[in-house]
Amino acid sequence: MVKIGVLGLQGAVREHLWAIEASGGEGIIVKRPEQLEEVDGLIIPGGESTTIRRLVDKYGFMDELKKFADDGKPMFGTCAGLILLANNLVGYDEPHIGVMDVKVERNSFGRQRESFEADIAISGVADNFSAVFIRAPHIVEAGEDVEVLAKHNDRIVAARDRQFLGCSFHPELTNDHRLMNYFVKMVEESKSKNFA
Ligand code: GLN
Repeated sequence: MVKIGVLGLQGAVREHLWAIEASGGEGIIVKRPEQLEEVDGLIIPGGESTTIRRLVDKYGFMDELKKFADDGKPMFGTCAGLILLANNLVGYDEPHIGVMDVKVERNSFGRQRESFEADIAISGVADNFSAVFIRAPHIVEAGEDVEVLAKHNDRIVAARDRQFLGCSFHPELTNDHRLMNYFVKMVEESKSKNFA
């Protein structure tokens, strides 16, 4: 069984654990950088990206997160987590972890639409997925090798770049675990490659 960490500094952490377990993985909350050594994959949850970033720095996570990515381990960023993974942020000079080849804009669905639910199709995952958006970012541009997995109103809301998966919405807030199943499979595949 693969072990998947959920970065537990701020945001929607516990719901991810349930989704990991419903998808056949073992989930743990990661609160200290050393714990990254124990996990095969990592989820960076939604919340507030600036707050998560502040805590990443405060608890000395940044170098370890970059190393985790360099080691080829899968990472899944949901909402604020996607903002943390992106290598380019609209209106900012520097990215945060900056490992996923996408340009992301924060809070990009407009004020009156701060929070909404929409049915979307996610390529290879689901034809009809009920996605919960909360002050959501979107992917403005995706690099050449990035696979666009979902769009909503012509905006990219889910994508995969090598071992990095990102989405604008909160898949952990519904009982539909198909996107988490997809990530658990990515982690299983990466783990079996490392042992091959
Ligand atoms: N608006 C938040 C940010 O910019 C993200 C919102 C979320 O994760 N639900 O960090």
